[in-house]
Amino acid sequence: MTRFRSLAVAASGGFVTGAIAMAVLQPRFVLHGNAETARSPAAADLPATLQGDPVEDLRQRHLLLPVEGMTRAALHDSFDELRSGGVRHEAIDILAPRNTPILAVEGGTVAKLFHSEAGGITVYQFDPTNTYAYYYAHLERYAAGLANGDQVTRGQVLGFVGTSGNAPKDTPHLHFAIFKLTSAKQWWHGSPINPYAVFK
Ligand SMILES: [Zn+2]
Repeated sequence: MTRFRSLAVAASGGFVTGAIAMAVLQPRFVLHGNAETARSPAAADLPATLQGDPVEDLRQRHLLLPVEGMTRAALHDSFDELRSGGVRHEAIDILAPRNTPILAVEGGTVAKLFHSEAGGITVYQFDPTNTYAYYYAHLERYAAGLANGDQVTRGQVLGFVGTSGNAPKDTPHLHFAIFKLTSAKQWWHGSPINPYAVFK
């Protein structure tokens, strides 16, 4: 119980409240290591980009910046910063005027439209190979008609910049994260990858 309680406390201040809360509720979360081990024999069959550094794999995709009109020079690396509750940020924040369109960084699938206390109105998108999840949070609202399971294209508007969840109400921004999924392909669970390193 101690471990669960500390996770819950940590989650209350971090962006991944939904993710952590779901992980706590999923007993199979602890089997992550076994799942990874089971995958390893097949690794030799994968393309080099998938065997190696995920940052390099993602760089080769030339992902679109997820906020319309944003330039790479304006990005700031806050991946390792500690947020309230001592939770590592594991994301980047892109400041933009409220209602600026949020764009899919590449094609893929809407894995989950999710509302959480910290993230507010969020989108979890899988890439076309179901290797990575892209997480967009603090939206003002979704694009009209967006639904779970939708196939989206690179640059498609997913929603609009806002301050939902625990974002300061005077600082609209997109909280954007990338994580590498496990073999279970759970939208709430994976290994965080620094988007700044991918985009820079
Ligand atoms: Zn953030």
